[in-house]
Amino acid sequence: MSDLPVVVIGAGPQGLAAAAHLLERGLEPLVLESGAGPAAAVAEWGHVRLFSAWPELVDTASVRLLAPTGWTAPTTGYPTGAQWIEGYLAPLAAALGDRVRYDARVSGVSRKGRDRLVDAGRADQPFTVHVVDAAGNESRLEARAVIDASGTWRRPNPAGADGLPALGESAAASLLTSQVPDRTRPERHAGRHTVVVGSGDSAFNAIHELVRIAADHPGTRITWAIRRVVSEGTFGGGAADQLPERGALGQRARKAVESGAVDLVTGFRTAEIRQADGRAVLVGEDGREVAPADSVVVLTGFRPDLSFLSELRLDLDPTLEAPRRIAAEIDPNIHSCGSVQATGAADLAQPEPDLYLVGMKSYGRAPTFLALTGYEQVRSVVAAIAGDHEAAARVELVLPDTGVCGGAGVFDDPEGAGGGCCAPAPAAPSGELLEIGRAPVDA
Ligand SMILES: Cc1cc2nc3c(=O)[nH]c(=O)nc-3n(C[C@H](O)[C@H](O)[C@H](O)COP(=O)(O)OP(=O)(O)OC[C@H]3O[C@@H](n4cnc5c(N)ncnc54)[C@H](O)[C@@H]3O)c2cc1C
Repeated sequence: MSDLPVVVIGAGPQGLAAAAHLLERGLEPLVLESGAGPAAAVAEWGHVRLFSAWPELVDTASVRLLAPTGWTAPTTGYPTGAQWIEGYLAPLAAALGDRVRYDARVSGVSRKGRDRLVDAGRADQPFTVHVVDAAGNESRLEARAVIDASGTWRRPNPAGADGLPALGESAAASLLTSQVPDRTRPERHAGRHTVVVGSGDSAFNAIHELVRIAADHPGTRITWAIRRVVSEGTFGGGAADQLPERGALGQRARKAVESGAVDLVTGFRTAEIRQADGRAVLVGEDGREVAPADSVVVLTGFRPDLSFLSELRLDLDPTLEAPRRIAAEIDPNIHSCGSVQATGAADLAQPEPDLYLVGMKSYGRAPTFLALTGYEQVRSVVAAIAGDHEAAARVELVLPDTGVCGGAGVFDDPEGAGGGCCAPAPAAPSGELLEIGRAPVDA
């Protein structure tokens, strides 16, 4: 199988980084991307400013690949999604050339001549990867290994608090969006009533954008509906967050609530979305109703698309739908500290040999994924595929704490949500790189 490529699903930040690591190790990558260009998912939220600074958003092997092209690594500031693409991801995709194939949606992955049931000779068979383009044309290719870096962006959670679309949610789709509002394109919200549903970083961003729109457009009204009660962790980790801009997101949202610019509705679990005079009325499981909204911004997180992996043997956590060993560290029912240690190939390995889920998808439904985590994952996974087990086992990353211990799973418990359960960062073993974030890139 050594003549076959390693197929990488998705040309997002993690898929492109995986390709750079593969090339560096003399393995041939083939990146299959459903969108029309690099980082098609990031492009859809291009107006959102990242809370990570530039050095935390580039991968080291990718920097080494780009260096001979004259590209220089941005060293300061916090890019928007669009700037992340323009300043790094698009040049990286260009450097990978025709190893990145666009308009190539992976619709299925299996083993050649073996469905999921068959044991015999399974590991000796190449993967078969089924691909479909926008016109519906199908093709099939073979791979020696598969790295699924397809993210979770295309599977946003619904508004319904039980994880299913609320009654009437599908019918009200034209009044709903899962996009963070953009202050430079205020039409949808200016002078109107918008309800934001959800309580993570994207919801904090949405509140910030809407407050800016309201400042310029009188009559703009903002309501924010969250499932949890207000507690120490509701607005993120604040000053305790080791990523200052991430901590600041929640604090801005808190100020918006305290100033009266935003009506906060707590303990609200959406059961139904009714339509009245072209507006949406959210109805809670307890019968409460939110005032009719012109637009509902649903930012309740994401879930992975596992449908195209159904013929492969996976070992996923039943709660998060993430590789089991990672799930134990990121389950928001236990903590949301963000300081994950399980980031290597051994933690990501599946019963299906040479198949790895990386990047945002590897966190399943958990909300705390960072690009840094993914870059460490792909470094280790590619080392394992290349047979360098020493490098695969090494851990070259310590993640910054969020400063929050309770996530979505503890929203009913004001005592459990927030507080100081985050463990201090472990002491650095000698010879290993251990710091918050990662060493500056040396382009
Ligand atoms: C609004 C927002 C802000 C964020 N801010 C930060 C931040 O500040 N710092 C940070 O570290 N992280 C941040 N993240 C988290 C994370 O780093 C990003 O989501 C990042 O884009 C994840 O990279 P990825 O490559 O895993 O997935 P994605 O960027 O989602 O890329 C996956 C790619 O796969 C493609 N794809 C999907 N399905 C298929 C298929 N079946 N076949 C082929 N291609 C497919 C998609 O089109 C997409 O291009 C943020 C996330 C969001 C949503």
